[in-house]
Amino acid sequence: MKKCMKCNFVSQELDRLDCPKCGAIYSKVEELHRQQSQQRRTVRQLSEKLEFQLNSEPDEDPFSGLVDEQWFERDQYPVVGHLSLFFLFLAAFVALGEIAGLFYYYQIMHSLVIYRTETLVTLTILMGIGSLVPIAVLVSMSYFLTMNRDMANNANATKEFLRIIATRLK
Ligand SMILES: [Zn+2]
Repeated sequence: MKKCMKCNFVSQELDRLDCPKCGAIYSKVEELHRQQSQQRRTVRQLSEKLEFQLNSEPDEDPFSGLVDEQWFERDQYPVVGHLSLFFLFLAAFVALGEIAGLFYYYQIMHSLVIYRTETLVTLTILMGIGSLVPIAVLVSMSYFLTMNRDMANNANATKEFLRIIATRLK
């Protein structure tokens, strides 16, 4: 008893090499059938492998261990920090000087009785507002120095990071 793999006809003639119904050569049809199942197995294995890779979690952050947090804390411009602090001290010094100056100005002018008290108070306040300008300039300079230093340090850290990434990708 022999079954044709093409048309499923069951033949009782065991000595025949071809199917009596559809004429297919048994050996060729079986070989084709074997190849097809082999191909199906390969495709299934590949898709299982792919599915496994897609489902599996990535090990870890691909950049972990590459970034050294110390880069971003490293200060390559220590002088700028000192200069910034110096400007702040200067601003405080100028402010104290201005306050003392205005205080003595008021006292002297008051004792001389050139202006009426209300006029003298107004005058002193206006002078005080005017003297805020150099203090504001000094504080701003101190602030901008620090900000620019931080930006420069961050740029250097980023440059270092990119350099390491580039080395890894090579
Ligand atoms: Zn057949």
